[in-house]
Amino acid sequence: MKKILLLGSGELGKEFVIAVKRLGHTVVACDSYAGAPAMQVADECRVFSMLDGEALERVVRDVQPDIIVPEVESIRTEKLYEFEGEGIQVVPSARAVNFTMNRKAIRELAHTELGLRTAEYRYATSLEELQQAADALGYPLIVKPLMSSSGHGQSKVDNAAGVAAAWAKAQTGARGDIQEVIVEKFVPFDYEITLLTVTQKGGPTLFCAPIGHVQKGGDYRESFQPRVMRPELMEEARRMAGKVTEALTGAGIWGVEFFVSEKEGVIFNELSPRPHDTGMVTLAGTQNLNEFELHARAVLGLPIPQIEQYRQGVSAVILSSVESDCPDYEGVERVCATPRTDLRIFGKPVAHVGRRMGVVVCWDELDADQEVLRRSCVELAGQVRVK
Ligand code: AMP
Repeated sequence: MKKILLLGSGELGKEFVIAVKRLGHTVVACDSYAGAPAMQVADECRVFSMLDGEALERVVRDVQPDIIVPEVESIRTEKLYEFEGEGIQVVPSARAVNFTMNRKAIRELAHTELGLRTAEYRYATSLEELQQAADALGYPLIVKPLMSSSGHGQSKVDNAAGVAAAWAKAQTGARGDIQEVIVEKFVPFDYEITLLTVTQKGGPTLFCAPIGHVQKGGDYRESFQPRVMRPELMEEARRMAGKVTEALTGAGIWGVEFFVSEKEGVIFNELSPRPHDTGMVTLAGTQNLNEFELHARAVLGLPIPQIEQYRQGVSAVILSSVESDCPDYEGVERVCATPRTDLRIFGKPVAHVGRRMGVVVCWDELDADQEVLRRSCVELAGQVRVK
């Protein structure tokens, strides 16, 4: 049996741990705070800053894992090359984790090397450069720190008057000490999707049905599967996802994000080399294996004969509107009393305003009305109150 070191112990890590524990493996869950969701279901845990290379090295020497599974981006990722060089499996690969944690690295690979279509973009290392880039691209624009996720430090800029505020926001929202930002032309897409893509050690690359999602402030609020797409567009998204995951190398699940415009086609945005938050919709039993089970199999080198879509599903997030160091939940009964509905409370020890604390999932037959299902799922999630 394998010993897995999980770097990051959030809600996605928790479901991944449950999936690998069901296959009998051992997991040591790490994060910067105690009592994190995945620690609650793992065999052991370690609390330290994963951005601290020496601390990370000490934990790896102590645990001696067979496999290192990063669940977050806030890790001293360069160290992963060393561990991989010593024969420890890094998921999906040290290269993939290092490229995807910096928007510039992944953009240059996807756009410049692989020729994937992206939003028009520039980089800027100062407010002056940002102003020049904005003038060159035209408005509206999206400004993002090179190292950030979940919309942190990101803003939409509608005209020249908003440039300075976007620069300031990017500086405070960035992870690490990189000042540089990416400026993208705003893409007036019709919809956006996550294409969960599974690369295997000994089998072909597999794709889940597309997941549609709704974002607010750069963070996901609602996702649904399948997001019906024209077959040509789906083929194009698969081709692009296959290409970028192949170039990044390794085995595991990836959340490949695209903007889709009926007129312009499929535009690559970014990708996560790990389960994707919008993929929590698969906890609604939409597929034969949910995204965490797929990740577990791919990571462990177990075969995945096929991915089958069983039914449609929706996920809607439960956000806290209060600060609490002893969160409790109201409205769970109402969710449980609703047919074809389930929820996960992540068990985060502390609630902050806007923090994602749980998710409600709903499902129905594949031919049911998706709009109705989406409305009812979002409504139910809104009724779960953190207090
Ligand atoms: P990201 O962190 O790059 O995934 O961005 C978060 C969300 O912001 C995306 O899912 C989109 O909803 C929106 N977004 C990001 N970049 C653009 C863009 N260039 N044009 C339009 N919307 C964008």
